[in-house]
Amino acid sequence: MRPEILFPLFAPARSLPGIGPRLEALVEKLAGPKVIDILWHLPSGLIDRRHRPSIADVRDGEIATMEVTVGLHIPPRTKRLPYRVHVFDDTGEMQIVFFNARAEHLAKILPEGQRRIISGRVEFYQGTPQMTHPDHMIGLDELADLPLMEPIYPLTAGLPLKSIQKAVRGALPRLPELPEWQDGPWLKARGWTNWRQSLIAAHELQSAADLGADAPARARLAYDELLANQLALGLVRLRMRRLPGRSISAPGQLRKKVEAALPFALTNAQIRALSEISADMKSNHRMLRLLQGDVGSGKTVVALLAMLDAVEAGFQAAMMAPTEILARQHYATLAPLCDAAGVRLELLTGREKGKRREEILARAAAGEIDILVGTHALFQEDVAFRALAFAVVDEQHRFGVHQRLMLTSKGGTGTDVLVMTATPIPRTLTLTAYGDMDVSKLDEKPPGRKPVDTRALPLDRLGEVAAGLDRALARGDQIYWVCPLVEESDEVDAAAAEERHRHLQSIYGEKVGLVHGRMKAADKDAVMARFQAGDIRILVATTVIEVGVNVPTATVMVIEHAERFGLAQLHQLRGRVGRGGDKSSCLLLYQAPLGETAAARIKIMRETEDGFRIAEEDLRLRGAGELLGTRQSGLPEFRLANIETQQELLAVAYDDARLILDRDPELESPRGEALRTLLYLFERDEAIRYLRSG
Ligand code: ADP
Ligand code: MG
Repeated sequence: MRPEILFPLFAPARSLPGIGPRLEALVEKLAGPKVIDILWHLPSGLIDRRHRPSIADVRDGEIATMEVTVGLHIPPRTKRLPYRVHVFDDTGEMQIVFFNARAEHLAKILPEGQRRIISGRVEFYQGTPQMTHPDHMIGLDELADLPLMEPIYPLTAGLPLKSIQKAVRGALPRLPELPEWQDGPWLKARGWTNWRQSLIAAHELQSAADLGADAPARARLAYDELLANQLALGLVRLRMRRLPGRSISAPGQLRKKVEAALPFALTNAQIRALSEISADMKSNHRMLRLLQGDVGSGKTVVALLAMLDAVEAGFQAAMMAPTEILARQHYATLAPLCDAAGVRLELLTGREKGKRREEILARAAAGEIDILVGTHALFQEDVAFRALAFAVVDEQHRFGVHQRLMLTSKGGTGTDVLVMTATPIPRTLTLTAYGDMDVSKLDEKPPGRKPVDTRALPLDRLGEVAAGLDRALARGDQIYWVCPLVEESDEVDAAAAEERHRHLQSIYGEKVGLVHGRMKAADKDAVMARFQAGDIRILVATTVIEVGVNVPTATVMVIEHAERFGLAQLHQLRGRVGRGGDKSSCLLLYQAPLGETAAARIKIMRETEDGFRIAEEDLRLRGAGELLGTRQSGLPEFRLANIETQQELLAVAYDDARLILDRDPELESPRGEALRTLLYLFERDEAIRYLRSG
């Protein structure tokens, strides 16, 4: 239950001055429904009203706060003309200008002969200074109330700045003094104040520097948020580990058989990852591990060997892929290896229907299938296992966190989970999205891979490129030709691919195949199978081939309109070639002239094949949300922190959370109690339930 001390912060925004029924909905849209949401809506700008010139000294265009005596009011002769009020001081005279003015109102706030303070932007009109609709017009005795450093807030249509300012001013005095959850020496080292003072300082600006992300007040608030996030992930992870897991250990007979059937030796990175996975499986706690490996680093075989241990120990394993093509490809890769070891492998996708499906389900439930490979179809409610002990989720970023949990629930609570991702994720993003997972990295590619020769050419040479493919074909090459993502629409993409297909077919005839997202699954498979078999030599495709597709004999990748693809996507696409021993090439055809970002992407592609470096550059060029797609990745959205610019803080928060939970896993110490308040403050109530006394 939320501690009482936080109640004022979680009161509805409408309890604040200036937020009536009319503005409530707008405030909710802009910031959120609660008082704390408004307080976390931090200023984006600042009006500095400290400049106090006399009339003779004031300059055109500046914000000025001036002490003046009110002179004559001059009402307009017609409605369309402005209402003018003359004001003066010892040095000169100027005018205040109003449109659509109400005379009685102005007579009240600017009584003739009285001294007033006015503040606003000064403009010169025919040599005379004037101020149109001053932001402030007050008596000398009210000067103390004038915000000399006035915060500007991001707004939404219909919501006046003044209302937000008023609401914030009304909210700040309600801030409770919360127990300090941060480590004292750390605060001191950073020069940070306590939470309440920081929040006040973030709104009551002293200078433009206070708006920066590294201003002490803002940095502290951001760090609070990052720590709350890391702590919540850490608690989930602790809880997972505390759940009774199965200890799976196998002598490794099955593995040995499969390894003997492999045409290659494992890389050191694969061996290392496998031993990390085995250790997790052997221990009593539940495994939650992320296997990160660039395209082509050989994740599939690692997953298989790990699954075999589960099978040998008498359990079942499941492997889930994000697309039909991939699920089938995994099945095809694993089938001969499983055969060699006498392991019963089965495939379940949306296409296994009716009696066939029922039969698979019955066998899975009876334990007559050892490894079940599939797509989302594995999630369906009627899919049950006799003893699922190990689940592999391939290409994680395509699945949400929710789906990840769905699959793990199939095996009861003890299922070990291995998540594999081919998108190398910068460390910082791994922390926010997967802070709850252990990580194994395949940072070494199988031997013998030659670098992919990457070139960029303007699109007007497309005809030349198409005509030149005959040389590649004569060498025996197989070619991917990827068509542009025209819109976020399968239909339009398909049309572009169909047209290129016709074009290439007119040159190369039946050697040219086509695969796109609008085709029936069975047709896609048939085409992929013919490409794999080498009957199709040029495969025209949309990005359906982006993830995971493995045809080692393909050595040429042509990407049309490369400027329309993201960096991660280009990297994934290029990763489809260079998988066999033969020299491969990648041609990026771009529409000239290139924009700055597109040019930077293509340059990076030409410079490196290192997926981790590419991911870092991508993060720099695009920003985190876009990189992973917040929705897809389950990446949390931050209100106060910015994971692109505050990566260093994020890393510290990660370490900090680990340390805290090592020492005080139940958050029972005084600092632990304070940290509970922090979790409630950021609405990580879920995580608190994982505590014994939560
Ligand atoms: P990814 O990590 O992209 O999923 P895959 O598992 O599809 O990569 O492997 C890519 C290719 O590399 C496959 O053809 C696979 O058989 C091969 N491979 C995997 N491990 C090795 C290895 N140790 N030595 C040589 N080839 C390997
Ligand atoms: Mg793969």
